[in-house]
Amino acid sequence: MRLNAKISLFFTIIAVALIIVVAAISLYAFRRFSEDVAEAHVRTASEIVRVHLTEAMINGVIDRRQSFLRRITEVHGLLSAYVVRAPLVTQQFGESTGGEFKPDEVEELVMKEGRHRFQILEKGDELIFRSTIPYIADSRDTPNCMQCHQVSEGDVLGAVTMTMSMTSLRNQAMVTVGGIVGTVGIFAFFLFLFLRKVLRPISNTAHEVEEVVAQAINGNFGVKVTQQTNDEIGQIALGLNHLMNFLNEGLSRIGRQVAQLTGRKPKADENLLTVTIDMVEGLTKAAHFKQAIEEDEAKIEVYQRLAITLQDEFKLNEFSIYEVASGCNEMSTVMVDGALFAPCRWCNAQILERPETCRARRTGHLVDGIEQLDICYAFSAPDDGERRGYLCFPVLQSGVVGSVVQLVVKEADQDRITATLPYINVYLREAAPVLEARRLTETLKESSLRDPMTGLNNRRYLEEYVETLLANVRRQQIHLAILMLDLDYFKMVNDNYGHDAGDAVLKSLAQVLKQSVRASDMVIRYGGEEFLIVLQDAEGAAADQVAENIRCAVEKIRVNVGGVVLQKTISIGVSDYPKDSGTFWQTVKFADVALYRAKQTGRNRVVRFEQEMWTTEQEY
Ligand code: GH3
Ligand code: MG
Ligand code: MG
Repeated sequence: MRLNAKISLFFTIIAVALIIVVAAISLYAFRRFSEDVAEAHVRTASEIVRVHLTEAMINGVIDRRQSFLRRITEVHGLLSAYVVRAPLVTQQFGESTGGEFKPDEVEELVMKEGRHRFQILEKGDELIFRSTIPYIADSRDTPNCMQCHQVSEGDVLGAVTMTMSMTSLRNQAMVTVGGIVGTVGIFAFFLFLFLRKVLRPISNTAHEVEEVVAQAINGNFGVKVTQQTNDEIGQIALGLNHLMNFLNEGLSRIGRQVAQLTGRKPKADENLLTVTIDMVEGLTKAAHFKQAIEEDEAKIEVYQRLAITLQDEFKLNEFSIYEVASGCNEMSTVMVDGALFAPCRWCNAQILERPETCRARRTGHLVDGIEQLDICYAFSAPDDGERRGYLCFPVLQSGVVGSVVQLVVKEADQDRITATLPYINVYLREAAPVLEARRLTETLKESSLRDPMTGLNNRRYLEEYVETLLANVRRQQIHLAILMLDLDYFKMVNDNYGHDAGDAVLKSLAQVLKQSVRASDMVIRYGGEEFLIVLQDAEGAAADQVAENIRCAVEKIRVNVGGVVLQKTISIGVSDYPKDSGTFWQTVKFADVALYRAKQTGRNRVVRFEQEMWTTEQEY
């Protein structure tokens, strides 16, 4: 119920109660007053009647009492008067012959009890006061009634009944009470109008404050309260308007800035407050994400964190992250549905070899496959009855597309994901420079671990990688074979055909070495024309066989230098880890010792390390 209605109701109840109480009190007072007046009146009249009748009896003119009683009734307001005889008097004097009335029930009761009775009777519109007063024998009366009546002191001699009209008194009372009620009513009405005038600004302000607060809860801070007075209520209105202005300006500014960062503009029907809170929350999470990836050491950790965010934050379980190899025209999967380096699932695998078929990679723009499913022909979804759309975000690094993040969105999730698109963009924007920096670092590091001429890893790489390699050996309980290789009489190539010819031989050799071992084996350019090969899970005769194969393969190399075909041989020393030595670098040394022996014993051969070679070596 509104404040105004409450005040009106409260005041009306008070006014009606007041009028009822005033009317009741007035009516009661009038009734009491009327009764008292009537009672006094009839008591006086009955006394007169008694005295007159006694004297009439003494004077022997009792038979004229009727005319006396008639005259009495001519007194203003008195309607009737008559006397009745008590049984004791009838006993003494016999039945009356003077037209006395027979006592009715009330009179008999009055005479029996010796106590008066007053009644108010309504006859039609008439209001009548009836009194019946007993005459009681009293020797102290003058004249003494005991002189004539043979009765005892206190006996009832008779009763006088009189009736009086109270109609005019009642009518007067009604008019007076009506006047009082009317006056009180009019007073209450004007008081009500006055109070309404005084309270109207309070109730209006309260109503407007309620509206302003309701609007503010819905995110609209532009509504104002009208200042109606200069008192405390007016100050409340003024203060609230200031507060709303302040909030409106503050929130609009925050909203504008946050909207700039997210690229998301609140719609007209959206709650500015909740939208701003959502945007700030989204940005805070993105800031935490940025902080975390900046501390990540490797590019792959950044991709993993991005995948976790897609899964946990955006509730997306179907997505791919592709990386475009820098320099060369290839793409590879980094993450598919949260699994590292998993095979391509949501695109035709041809995009890996022909990245230009990936629309996001080619255009550098967001590809919206929710709006238009067939915008990219490379998208492929399993035929499991579920309709899916997709969004492909190019992640720019150094001005080119370095990665592509592809979100696969089920039909039921499309609205939700479209709404969160600005936030996903923020995450990718934060990830891009970090990915670029990690990529640069990793490329730099890789180049320092790779020999640019042959494309093989260098000795530093082996030094860095050896711990991981040995941990793997221990975990899988496998053996390694170390092959140390050195071209025979290589110096002569340089001397006779020039350094470039030497380089050409080294490049061809590197190719052959790579092709002669498994992908899991390691080929290292160890020194100038010295190479080291680590064979995984191989030892003894098997390793010797690989070495022999290499030797044969090298023999077959033909390098054409300026019309001259060069042919070279190679010497190889072989040792096993951990069979020959529990220390990796010692095993390398032993392979070198075996190589030395191969050189000594005529070159172009494979020599397996024997413990005695080491003793002999030390002797020199
Ligand atoms: P040996 O059979 O005893 O090994 O005889 P060799 O001539 O191969 O002797 P050595 O191993 O001492 O010679 C190594 C030569 O390889 C010396 C150096 O000029 C040459 N060399 C080292 N690195 C390179 C390179 O990158 N390019 C070229 N062209 N030559 C290199
Ligand atoms: Mg050498
Ligand atoms: Mg050599």
